[in-house]
Amino acid sequence: MNSRRNFLQKITASAFGIPVLTAMNERPSGILNEVPYEGPMLKVAILGLGSYGNRVAEAMQSCSMAKVTGVISGTPSKIKDWQAKYNIPDKNCYNYENFDNIKNNPDIDAVYIITPNALHKDQAIRVAKAGKHVICEKPMSINAKDGQEMIDACKKANVKLLVGYRMHFEAKTLEILRMRNAGDFGKVLFFQGLCGFRIGDPNQWRLNKALSGGGAMMDIGIYAVNGSRYMIGEDPIWVTAQETKTDPVKFKEGIDETIQFQFGFPGGAVASCLSTYQMSNLDRFFLNGEKGFAEMQPSTGYGPIKARTNKGELTNPHITHQTTQMDEMAAIILQGKKAPVPVDGEEGLKDLKIIDAIFLAVKTGKKVELKL
Ligand code: NDP
Repeated sequence: MNSRRNFLQKITASAFGIPVLTAMNERPSGILNEVPYEGPMLKVAILGLGSYGNRVAEAMQSCSMAKVTGVISGTPSKIKDWQAKYNIPDKNCYNYENFDNIKNNPDIDAVYIITPNALHKDQAIRVAKAGKHVICEKPMSINAKDGQEMIDACKKANVKLLVGYRMHFEAKTLEILRMRNAGDFGKVLFFQGLCGFRIGDPNQWRLNKALSGGGAMMDIGIYAVNGSRYMIGEDPIWVTAQETKTDPVKFKEGIDETIQFQFGFPGGAVASCLSTYQMSNLDRFFLNGEKGFAEMQPSTGYGPIKARTNKGELTNPHITHQTTQMDEMAAIILQGKKAPVPVDGEEGLKDLKIIDAIFLAVKTGKKVELKL
């Protein structure tokens, strides 16, 4: 485990241009000299024990700096299962009515919110008011106004607000950013982000605007929005967007099925992206500059990510994204470490501002200027 951690620190360093990654790739991580981590662990309560909450908790079993110490859930049977699986005492279990009481619980430093999107804002504000750090799944909330309220509440309570952008710690992604910063692709001029899956059950919360805040864009298109920014290394200054709806029964008013969108960046680059709930196995990033390219497919799924550039295939080993993310977030909260690509509330807010602008561009058919 600590081999992995040490390895990660080197990968992170490489994202800032320190040339360690090539050397690291030449030997297995197990032979490195390790100093076992013996400092404090980030004690995390998971709020919302659904599909992704389960994945995160499972991945956290391999963390060296973070552990699951509590649960907040509306389903008593799930609480029982989690208690047995993760050895969680009764005193660290809460429901949606009483979880403000985490305030008095020293076994909880942070709460990871993994519920339907529209619930994030109020839950985050309650966690902040209880004096605990907030880790919130993407999208941080359902619009920029709510996102700003979350940031304000966390600032006021003097707690951190982090968003579950797991790709910001992913090794191949960071290697491509290192290569871009080193000038390997020349001046970057184009990004393409294609993100989608074919959604099933028409009755799920993802297709209910009151809980999701939107359709594919909020859920999966956000990866192309966010990816455009970290792959190009700038924030967009304008947006255009067009919506296609082939199934208006399943995808009701306010639930987007497929949106194509385009961004312009201050340095002259453009992005062309697609977000959809109608096509599976759509998970591709492509970046091109004056001299070369980076291609990732799959680019944001749970991995392993596959990536190649004009210089060849990337071989950085796969590590479970959520394990890395939670160790890195523990280091941010406990040690003030800087993320290689930011994962704070301001980062989440930028994506929400862009998504608001995409929806406006779809509605008006006009180019929308952005000031992030
Ligand atoms: P699920 O439907 O699987 O789980 C959501 C959980 O939220 C439920 O199991 C339930 O837990 C709780 N919940 C509370 N109120 C409601 C409600 N009114 N309706 C439904 N559930 C409710 O969703 P996911 O786990 O797939 O997604 C949750 C969040 O995680 C979303 O914001 C999503 O975007 C994000 N996500 C992020 C991923 C990533 O890779 N970063 C991947 C997948 C999702 P309980 O019974 O314990 O109360």
